[in-house]
Amino acid sequence: MPENARFPIYTSHEWWGDNWEPMSFGQEYDPTKPFFTQLKELQEKVPRAHQIGRKNYACDWSEDTWESKNIYLSRAIWKCENLSYCYRVLTSKDSFDLVYCFDMQKSYNCLFCHSSFNLNFSENSRDCIDSYFLFDCRNCQDCVMSWNLRNKRYCIRNQQYTKDEYEKELAEFNFGSYKKLNSYKIEFENILKNDAIHRENFNIKITNSSGNYMTNCDKCKNVFSWENSQNCLNCIRGLNAKDSIDQAFTWNTENSGNNGTVDGGYQIKHSAHSVAKYSEYLDNCIDVENCFGCIGLRKKKYCILNRQYTKEEYEKLKNKIISDMGDEYGEFLPYSVGICDYNLSAGVLYFPKTTKEEIVEQGGYWSEEDFSSKDGILSTELTDEMKDTDSSVCGQALICPITRYRFNISQSEFEFHKNRNFALPREHFDRRMLEPARKMVVLKSSPYKCFYCKKDIMAYYPPEWGYQKIACEECYKQHIA
Ligand SMILES: [Zn+2]
Repeated sequence: MPENARFPIYTSHEWWGDNWEPMSFGQEYDPTKPFFTQLKELQEKVPRAHQIGRKNYACDWSEDTWESKNIYLSRAIWKCENLSYCYRVLTSKDSFDLVYCFDMQKSYNCLFCHSSFNLNFSENSRDCIDSYFLFDCRNCQDCVMSWNLRNKRYCIRNQQYTKDEYEKELAEFNFGSYKKLNSYKIEFENILKNDAIHRENFNIKITNSSGNYMTNCDKCKNVFSWENSQNCLNCIRGLNAKDSIDQAFTWNTENSGNNGTVDGGYQIKHSAHSVAKYSEYLDNCIDVENCFGCIGLRKKKYCILNRQYTKEEYEKLKNKIISDMGDEYGEFLPYSVGICDYNLSAGVLYFPKTTKEEIVEQGGYWSEEDFSSKDGILSTELTDEMKDTDSSVCGQALICPITRYRFNISQSEFEFHKNRNFALPREHFDRRMLEPARKMVVLKSSPYKCFYCKKDIMAYYPPEWGYQKIACEECYKQHIA
């Protein structure tokens, strides 16, 4: 538990229990003080749960995990089982080191892959089985180091082999040597730069919309990583929204706006971590209606700063506060009520160039904590070959050569790597999640010419990635899909 938390922290079990009353922290509105100052004072008194996420079994070391079982050191997980070191993974099982994946099984080290079994070291592939280092492949089986393939079997470097030849060639790969594995990763990155055809965007079934990674969206503009929605503007990462604007990490909203990590609502505005109707400036409230400036409430109506009012009193006081707020009304919750240090938040994924000075000037928080450690051996000193590594490595504290953070190899991770003969990771798991995730958070498009028809297109690949072959939607469909 962080020593510098600005509010009391309860275990999730205690927080959801009946032994405390958020209304007991209620404050009377003081018209002589700014509203946000009062909201911050209230926020610092009301307990928060140590984890968000519910209906889990054996997920104590994961955050933002829901309806899952046996999840270790992972974040943003829904309906999964037996995962470790995963980020934003849905309905997947028995896998390690997945980022932004859906419906995966027994897979390792994949980014934006869907519905695959024993798929490893791959990106943007679907419906693939028993394969390694695939990029933009669909319905492939027994393939290695290949790209843009459809319905293939026994391919290596996009060359067709017979079953016998394939097995002989596959045996030449040694994923158990860290050095060899690294050379395959470099080869794969070079394929992405020089050989693979990249789609103009990753939107599927969209109409009248602009942005990237949208599925089933209509009239969504400047929207990213968003699904099953209509008429949204300026949104990042979420789903099931209608007529909503300026939202990040939210789902199930209608007629709502200016929200972050809101889990559902109708006419909810300027709020975070809440589920509500007809409410504004909420933080951490569940199933409330007609509440304004409240923290940690459940199933309440007509409350302001965690105090109960009648409907008439509520309307009157709410209007007075809005009038007192002046221009501040309509702004999102200020940085001063942010619940963690900016540089430890998901903000660094989307806006990595934000500086400490900018955040502190806005009243936000920045961690100065040094997480580096000297207590362990550099992971680069591990034996190169997995076949020469025994389970005693699990008891060894390792230092990541890049972050200098300390980490270890869990028993289940060791067994997984041993069974597959995959070299153990040398980098800290935070970096293993953060680095691939960066590929999926580009919000700015760059100008390119279609590789096939040469028409001008805008695509979400920064020029420094060096992708040479980017295809417009029509040409991609014609030549690849
Ligand atoms: Zn084209």
